[in-house]
Amino acid sequence: MAQDTIFSKIVAGEIPCNKVYEDDLVLAFEDINPSAKVHVLVIPKSNHLERLSEVATEDANLMGHIMVCINKIAKDLGIDKTGYRVITNSGENAHQEVPHLHFHILGGEPLSKRNN
Ligand code: AMP
Repeated sequence: MAQDTIFSKIVAGEIPCNKVYEDDLVLAFEDINPSAKVHVLVIPKSNHLERLSEVATEDANLMGHIMVCINKIAKDLGIDKTGYRVITNSGENAHQEVPHLHFHILGGEPLSKRNN
């Protein structure tokens, strides 16, 4: 079970964000410290998953929905044709800072050839 993090507070509306997408299950907003011209975070509203390594079979529908949302968000942001990168940091070695499952969408300019 994830802790109550800054992302839970954003979901609850207690901390502001620059929202780019929202539905019943998912919220997407601009990263406060962008690593690329476009840097959006996509999170499940539920805080029951701290990171990807906690995802279980019962989360399959949610995970599929998040991927469909990412595709839609990228189209809405106009970065689908030029391309983008999706990253999730899972745990300490990946330098995950916020223990609430999230996916980074990076794009809007050529990215490094590295995988991070
Ligand atoms: P990670 O290292 O994968 O856990 O990434 C956490 C991300 O959350 C970082 O890129 C931060 O810049 C971002 N972040 C932290 N606080 C906020 C906030 N209040 N609004 C938007 N993005 C945030």
